Amino acid sequence: MSYKNFPMVPRVVFGRGSFNQLGEILAPKRLNINAPFIFLVDDVFKSDSWLTSRIPLAYNDQIIFVSAAEEPKTEQVDELVESIILKFNERPSGIIGIGGGTLLDLAKAVSIMLTNKGKAQDYQGWDLVKNKAIYHVGIPTISGTGAEVSRTTVLTGPDKKLGINSDFTPFDQVVLDSELTQSVPKNQWFYTGMDCYIHCIESLEGTYLNTFSQSYGDMALSLCEEIFLDDDLSVTESQEKLMMASWHGGMSIVYSQVGVAHAMSYGLSYLLGIKHGIGNCIVFDQLEEFYPEGVKVFKEMKAKHNIVLPQGICSKLNDQELDTMIDISLGLVPLWENALGKNWKRTITRKKLKALYLRM
Ligand code: NAD
Ligand code: ZN
Repeated sequence: MSYKNFPMVPRVVFGRGSFNQLGEILAPKRLNINAPFIFLVDDVFKSDSWLTSRIPLAYNDQIIFVSAAEEPKTEQVDELVESIILKFNERPSGIIGIGGGTLLDLAKAVSIMLTNKGKAQDYQGWDLVKNKAIYHVGIPTISGTGAEVSRTTVLTGPDKKLGINSDFTPFDQVVLDSELTQSVPKNQWFYTGMDCYIHCIESLEGTYLNTFSQSYGDMALSLCEEIFLDDDLSVTESQEKLMMASWHGGMSIVYSQVGVAHAMSYGLSYLLGIKHGIGNCIVFDQLEEFYPEGVKVFKEMKAKHNIVLPQGICSKLNDQELDTMIDISLGLVPLWENALGKNWKRTITRKKLKALYLRM
């Protein structure tokens, strides 16, 4: 038996207002005055000077606003990398992602592709990255995905939705300032928060679980239950706790895996462009068979926060489209194996997946 040796985020600052320390955190990492820091920022903040005025720009540093309306694509990563290479003579001092999972994943992927040849799609998979990425910093503005702590960056490529999973993917520095999450709209708060909850259930109920994963998963799960079911948390407490739940949820899956909801949600996202958080909710809502207790509590949370999920999203799909979703989903072997064990193919047939999708 050989145990995997995982990297972790080596530096993290936590606290309300800690975003103000970004300048002093970055200064020693500047390679020279011609090597800029590039800030990839969710364009939802474009007119939000409360946030943007505090981004510590110097010399040739640049902000690139990116829309999070769609999930990151390999092509988009390649274009960003090319534009950075064309614009600057020097390799940047660092890439700083400010936003949700979309922006965090883009920042990770761009930092990897600045030092690795070819296209981002060549690196979708496990441990394909050859060279260390450039210095990269993650600053979440919405909590739940665990992208701030994970060793993957999930990208949609020409033929698959799959992460660049590698030892070079995790951030070198993370800034956890829950104040940055105060403007998140309610529905989005729920969807991305449920991503964390679902990470916990899938990790804790999975066959890959070990004590390392369980300790993080238990912690994240109890935080989620407090945040989404208790009434006595203050707004600040709730924001801070969700930020830490996301972190622990992400840590829990480092050593295990996600499961059925993620495997099916990737299919929805690939074919219909349905985003990760809401897609997971739509799928998880139908998974009593696999996660009875987890789904029961999920439905309580959904009702408590008056969340109404879209229905009938697959009802008009033809067989070919359903097949595409099923192919994407079945391709995620480690997820199925974690969820149901080595013999998962006995339970999960194409017919079974089709029937489940048609309920969504
Ligand atoms: P997101 O980044 O897609 O953002 C969701 C929405 O919230 C966007 O409209 C965005 O503009 C908005 N938003 C973000 N912060 C805001 C703020 N402070 N105020 C107002 N609006 C704000 O959402 P997400 O759910 O965090 O990320 C989803 C992405 O993360 C997917 O692409 C998914 O594949 C990826 N993901 C990655 C990992 C990983 O480990 N790398 C894990 C899970 C999910
Ligand atoms: Zn997820």
